[in-house]
Amino acid sequence: MRERVDRVIRAEAVLTPAGFAPGAVTITGGIVTAILPVDEPVETRPIAESGLHDGGATDIRLPKGLVLLPGLVDTHVHVNEPGRTDWEGFASATRAAMFGGVTTVIDMPLNSIPPTTTVRGLELKRAAAGPQSSVNVGFWGGAVPGNLGTLHELHAAGVFGFKAFLSPSGVDEFPALSSAELLAAGAEIAAFGGLLLVHAEDPAELDAAPPAHGRSYAGFLASRPPQAEASAIDRVIDAVRRTGVRAHILHLSAAAALPRLRAARAEGLPITVETCPHYLSFAAEQIPDGATAFKCCPPIRDAANQELLWEALLDGTIDLVASDHSPATAELKLGHGGDFGLAWGGISGLELSLPAVWTAARASGIGLERVLGWMSAATARFAGLPGKGTIRQGADADLVSFAPEESFTVDVSALQHKNPVSAFDGATLRGRVHSTWLAGTLVHETGPSGAGVTGVTSPAASAPPEDPPRGALLRRPAPTP
Ligand SMILES: [Zn+2]
Repeated sequence: MRERVDRVIRAEAVLTPAGFAPGAVTITGGIVTAILPVDEPVETRPIAESGLHDGGATDIRLPKGLVLLPGLVDTHVHVNEPGRTDWEGFASATRAAMFGGVTTVIDMPLNSIPPTTTVRGLELKRAAAGPQSSVNVGFWGGAVPGNLGTLHELHAAGVFGFKAFLSPSGVDEFPALSSAELLAAGAEIAAFGGLLLVHAEDPAELDAAPPAHGRSYAGFLASRPPQAEASAIDRVIDAVRRTGVRAHILHLSAAAALPRLRAARAEGLPITVETCPHYLSFAAEQIPDGATAFKCCPPIRDAANQELLWEALLDGTIDLVASDHSPATAELKLGHGGDFGLAWGGISGLELSLPAVWTAARASGIGLERVLGWMSAATARFAGLPGKGTIRQGADADLVSFAPEESFTVDVSALQHKNPVSAFDGATLRGRVHSTWLAGTLVHETGPSGAGVTGVTSPAASAPPEDPPRGALLRRPAPTP
């Protein structure tokens, strides 16, 4: 007789590393213990004796039309707290994540004040995130001119890797690295086996381009040309070749850079590449003048460019898709009369990244399992989280029920992130998240109609991480009851 489990979730389609198949996923102690035939009898223990925190049913069968997915791991989120909490904060950002089926977010080291460039900055982040986060949260550190030589301290304290800019970041407290500093950072990070993430736009190419001003989207696009990305990526490739550091190209927009990335991979260099839902969803031709909700850096380029990004995802040149959720206040985003030179650059899409990418993928005949491969399995692998991003025996039971064929129109005022601005407002998207489980505990469920969306109380944050040198999550796989 099989041992009793905390919970079993049955679905006609469960996404495992082998693809979609009917199954019954059993969970004990926050961990997936088995994937059984869908109708297999399973004995569950009373909820009070279990490690679950929700008081819900222990034997769950998803309604027809819903599939069971691993929770998304979003490795590119700007939470901005502390310091710019009026832009975004841990409570609102992680709630948006939970509603969007994202069970783990890794926070970027800017635009909080202070930035996560010191151990003290990391401690402040953890103190801010711990009491108010609804999902697992981890932190990237930053590599800036002023902290080179001390990066091992941040690494030992549990950051997942180090983000650097080559061009101005947009905030004064997070300066860019020069070419020499990029090499120094690469050598330093390589010495302890860390990871270097780069916002790759070349400042010389940006300076040579006509500056963005006024309401014209074409004008904004011309101010951040593809060569700026390509040239910066050449510098990163050079730094990898010379220092051996593992590097990651953040938010690739310019398809023109793909051939050099393919060549670098063929050379065996340890480089990974990311793109974002907005580059895969929107094309420059459709963006109205003055629509600064669409402003981000690097910019959304034309439809032909987008087609090449999809090809690169399909052939593996681009490894993963992360949201680059980067909000500001509505005033900073929209308050300049549609002037692309003055508006804040950043798109708020954390809650919508799965339906947005799925909508575009589905239209091209690309399967949902590929989408999860880019947004869950690959991002978990990239961040070094072997228990995340997959449904298999021994993995964390961070799970999502999803209705791939349901469609909805985005109403930005109904989204959970702090400032109601998003490039996706008004878009009709396919695919709705119905429920989110964190370590087997139900933390979010939509109303039966799909209309009244309700948040379910999440368990309290668990103890601080005990294994910092590998990137450390605030919420461990099995929360203490
Ligand atoms: Zn970013």
